[in-house]
Amino acid sequence: MNRVGIIGGGAAGLMAAYAAAENGAEVTLHEKNEKLGKKIYITGKGRCNLTNDCDEREFFANVVSNPKFLMSSVHRLPPSELMALFTANGLKLKTERGNRVFPVSDKASDVTKCLEAMLRSRGVKILLESEISSLITENGRAIGLKSVDRNLFYDKIIVCTGGISYPSTGSTGDGYRFAREAGHSLTEPCAALTGIDLEGDFTSLAGLTLKNVSVSVFDKDRRVFSDFGELLFTHTGVSGPVVLTASSFINRMHVNGMTFSIDLKPALSPETLDARILSDFRANINKNFANSLGGLLPKSLIPTVIERSGIEPYKKLNAITHAERQKLLSVLKKLDFAITSLRPVEEGIVTAGGVNVREINPATMESRIVKGLYFAGEVIDVDALTGGFNLQTAFSTGYAAGVAAASAE
Ligand SMILES: Cc1cc2nc3c(=O)[nH]c(=O)nc-3n(C[C@H](O)[C@H](O)[C@H](O)COP(=O)(O)OP(=O)(O)OC[C@H]3O[C@@H](n4cnc5c(N)ncnc54)[C@H](O)[C@@H]3O)c2cc1C
Repeated sequence: MNRVGIIGGGAAGLMAAYAAAENGAEVTLHEKNEKLGKKIYITGKGRCNLTNDCDEREFFANVVSNPKFLMSSVHRLPPSELMALFTANGLKLKTERGNRVFPVSDKASDVTKCLEAMLRSRGVKILLESEISSLITENGRAIGLKSVDRNLFYDKIIVCTGGISYPSTGSTGDGYRFAREAGHSLTEPCAALTGIDLEGDFTSLAGLTLKNVSVSVFDKDRRVFSDFGELLFTHTGVSGPVVLTASSFINRMHVNGMTFSIDLKPALSPETLDARILSDFRANINKNFANSLGGLLPKSLIPTVIERSGIEPYKKLNAITHAERQKLLSVLKKLDFAITSLRPVEEGIVTAGGVNVREINPATMESRIVKGLYFAGEVIDVDALTGGFNLQTAFSTGYAAGVAAASAE
């Protein structure tokens, strides 16, 4: 019977512990916090979008970094199997818009409770406030762990320490150090699914949500990202679903100076929009420009659009020239801001980068450098879009590592 030591009691560590115990290992889980699953607790705005009820093709379309690496582990524990596992262990699930799966209770803590009960009933030893400071290796093999006050010896070790985002939940990047010390290379960690800071003063726009806009990011004239969805102005720039997605695709680029461009009326062609503006102007011929845009734009955005159009705000509509109307049209179709930076990695919903996937066996999660050492979850160089894909990744890689660590010689 293998003695398996697991570092980290997040999604990946809990699933690894379950899988190892279920496959006959004697399992000890070390979590440095006073409780398990601190990050799970804040997922899905406290409701935990634990997976996405989609097929594998759609799943991998939502993985940004290294989808191929995940194929084996996700095939082994796909969303359908994960949902069946939770349901069999008493957690009732529901599927919402976009196939997002949540507990029926809408309580993320129920997910952790369910996993904890699965571990306790299989005899997993759970050690809280048990911070691991380094791995112990000997002749290219992982043989134990160092905690603050003692050395602990195991046959197999699984590192599930997460990334470096939201460090108050315990994910402080310790696993990156363990991996480096063991001889692994890292893809430099950086923020993914995060806000974008823009040049300008956003005091009057902060809090404004724009639904159904089209967003593009340009590097000079080259469009490097484009998508459609919902956007939220913040005090420093933009966030919201479509922006989080954009950040995951541009986080390896030199973003300073790139252009963040919003098409405020993506459903209307320039010709249709021009006709609409013209008919609005004709219907309000005696109004001034500043008072004519209420039907077209949210109130707080009107001053920005007026300023960008260069049209004098109190000009009568019947005095606005064709050229001025064309300028207004171009602002509505392409409201541009200069990007200054992405929000820092600590604020990312996930950390992109991590342990180099070429140095990990994708079927077993075992290190190709140190025998008996496994990695699972966000510590690995994988990241996905929102919708339950990141937790599913943590669960699938944790499961693969747990099974392999329990059964390997
Ligand atoms: C606000 C927010 C909302 C999110 N919502 C969703 C969502 O709805 N759906 C989704 O799919 N994903 C979501 N995510 C992403 C998802 O939570 C993570 O990808 C996932 O939790 C990663 O799991 P993990 O087990 O790899 O790492 P973590 O959950 O970070 O767990 C790592 C654990 O290791 C412990 N640890 C670290 N170092 C040590 C050490 N030296 N010794 C002992 N223990 C240690 C930590 O304390 C922590 O408990 C969200 C993330 C955030 C921040």
